[in-house]
Amino acid sequence: MLAISNLTKRFGDNTVLEGIDLSLAEGEIVAIIGPSGTGKSTLLRCINFLETPTEGQIEIDGHRVNADSSNQKAIIELRKRAAFVFQNYALFANKTAQENIAEGLITVWKQPKSEAMATAASILTDIGLIDRKDAYPSSLSGGQQQRIGIGRAMAAHSKVILFDEPTSALDPEWVDEVLGLIKTLAERKQTMIIVTHEMQFAREIADRVVFMEGGRIVEQGPPSQLFETPQDPRTKQFLARAL
Ligand code: ATP
Ligand code: MG
Repeated sequence: MLAISNLTKRFGDNTVLEGIDLSLAEGEIVAIIGPSGTGKSTLLRCINFLETPTEGQIEIDGHRVNADSSNQKAIIELRKRAAFVFQNYALFANKTAQENIAEGLITVWKQPKSEAMATAASILTDIGLIDRKDAYPSSLSGGQQQRIGIGRAMAAHSKVILFDEPTSALDPEWVDEVLGLIKTLAERKQTMIIVTHEMQFAREIADRVVFMEGGRIVEQGPPSQLFETPQDPRTKQFLARAL
């Protein structure tokens, strides 16, 4: 369903990702773990061309884009298939909760505003925030803001949702409500890639855990295997510190 092939990303002389191959089946949930500066965020950002890959290709649901593509239409089609949830929510401060969820449907999907606002209302009901539909981000808790961020990704019915450390900016008291919403999506078999430092969560939710270091995939496998019997010394060392 999603295939990343031979993905390389360089910033000047700095090779941040090198020959990444990663495929996900429909409904699969992959957690990516690894040390800081290893290219996890860059990999996610390359998947929907928030960063332009240097080499390789991304294919989602039969829609393929090459690294050297300057075809903006193809890139927009890719973005329709892959929604992004940011660490810092990245909500529009001057838009309400409902407008934040509707925005992408209007600008990317070209839906009429009334239709987009109706979809946003049903998403807000789904995520338990309909009573805050007219609230601006500054009056919402971190947990509520991130649930809106996830609601925005849900609204587009994307093939895959990409989460970049969705709880690491949150006060501890708000972490559980956000992880709970991601678990609900998992129960619905939403395909997801989740970059996370929450090892316990990765273990509970992921079908597969990928350990990255130095811009490469070092090791991957089912959570029980990767966490309990890691094979590569680098994985062992990372887990010894992280667990
Ligand atoms: P963390 O766990 O701290 O979030 P990460 O694994 O997500 O780390 P990235 O943010 O992908 O790591 O960064 C990987 C490398 O790419 C780092 O060396 C970083 O400095 C570099 N990098 C990332 N974005 C850019 C950019 N826009 N321009 C130049 N270098 C960048
Ligand atoms: Mg990162």
